[in-house]
Amino acid sequence: MTEPIAPGDHTAYMRLALSLSRLSPAQPSNYRVGAVLVSATSNTILSSGYTQELAGNTHAEQNCLAKLGGGGEVPAEEAVLYTTMEPCVRRLSGNASCVERILRAGIRRVFVGVLEPDVFVACNDGRAVLERGGVEVVRVPGLEDEILEVAMAGHEGRRRGHGVSDADADAAAAAAAASAGA
Ligand SMILES: [Zn+2]
Repeated sequence: MTEPIAPGDHTAYMRLALSLSRLSPAQPSNYRVGAVLVSATSNTILSSGYTQELAGNTHAEQNCLAKLGGGGEVPAEEAVLYTTMEPCVRRLSGNASCVERILRAGIRRVFVGVLEPDVFVACNDGRAVLERGGVEVVRVPGLEDEILEVAMAGHEGRRRGHGVSDADADAAAAAAAASAGA
């Protein structure tokens, strides 16, 4: 088992979130992200989650909050969220964004490993929207390469570049599947 994490050891908590992200399915249609909700007061883990842990196209932060039960509200002053990637502010599916869920839950501090690459949504400004909502957003440096490697596993069939549409991604995935089968 892992050793207890020292209070305020943000890198260790981010590593825990990273280890959770590895449990997400690797596929071209999502990032693999992990999240951990911690009480800064008692240094206990309140909840955790990763991409598609719960049924459907679910995000790490969404699952982390959903698993809290109740209305998903956290003790406002004490809960801090660690997430490997900047929370989303828009979802192509029309579901509530993780930024909305974080604001609704009353979380005041969010630690992120990397800002979101613009594969799915150009110019994700989750950080800015959280900050406008009074949430402190803090980058935890040092794990970027590992986080992105895990997050984008399964994206090999996706064309590199900006603003790739779902249709483009599907076509790229189909082409990759066809060439893999040839
Ligand atoms: Zn999200």
